[in-house]
Amino acid sequence: MISYFNGNFVPAGEIHISPDDRGFLLADGIYEVVRFYRGVPFRLEQHRRRLEAGAAALRFERCEFPEFEPVMQRLVEENRLGDEESSTVYFQVTRGVAARSHAFPPAGTAATVYAAARPFVRLQNEIDDGVAAVTVRDDRWSRCDIKSIALLPNTLAHQAAREQGAVEAIFLRDGLVQEGSHSNVLCVKNGVAHTAPLTGSVLPGITRQVVLALCRDEGIPVREEDVPDSLFRDADEIAIVGTTVEVTPVVELDGKPVGAGEPGPLVRVMQERFFAQTGVRAGNLP
Ligand code: PMP
Repeated sequence: MISYFNGNFVPAGEIHISPDDRGFLLADGIYEVVRFYRGVPFRLEQHRRRLEAGAAALRFERCEFPEFEPVMQRLVEENRLGDEESSTVYFQVTRGVAARSHAFPPAGTAATVYAAARPFVRLQNEIDDGVAAVTVRDDRWSRCDIKSIALLPNTLAHQAAREQGAVEAIFLRDGLVQEGSHSNVLCVKNGVAHTAPLTGSVLPGITRQVVLALCRDEGIPVREEDVPDSLFRDADEIAIVGTTVEVTPVVELDGKPVGAGEPGPLVRVMQERFFAQTGVRAGNLP
């Protein structure tokens, strides 16, 4: 595979990252994952804007990444991923290479920029039949709106979910539902879609934004307000939404069925409308 590293397109195996990179030593970096459907990026500009907002929040010296779109597009082309039903491009920026210190590196230290593309195969059975999720205590920091590469709590939570036969861990903070380890979460109760508001506790997900907009278009009322654990457990329907999971129904939560224990009608509407926007129809959906 051809990847991108600090201005060059090179075979992935030829990339060498310094041990003094602040991403490696301090997780001092941010990232994005963009989905391409048959070579066409989905909401590319929104991803760049979120990356730039993250860079500004972390006070990176460089907060504009005009190379974001062309690099991604070229990686998909160079690796001949345009014919794939979908692919993803990972893009990461760190504060650069400097002798290890908590203080920011000297002015002029260049950011490290890395990007790589790969084919992405959707787990169609998860989209069609729904998945199990478990809840976990949210022990992350209070700036979850920044898409930081410091993902240790997310990986631990996700692994715990996997070990219980579930595919996503959903963070609960002070009795409120926040988001998944790699997705946003919404639930439906009595025809109303509920999801956590955009505070420092959740990532402003691009897919969340798309799904909430299509709910409004479809006349499904949306509440972006605190979601108490009790409302969530009593929900008629639950879905996780994100670049990789798209719109995946959750049919089992902590071992108990969600609603009727199968994907519900409003999540089906969200899926149908979502896939219409991607231009790639999900296999067996009605
Ligand atoms: N929350 C977290 C913690 C995530 O890692 C992701 C995946 N990027 C999301 C939400 C969903 O965001 P998006 O729709 O932009 O992929």
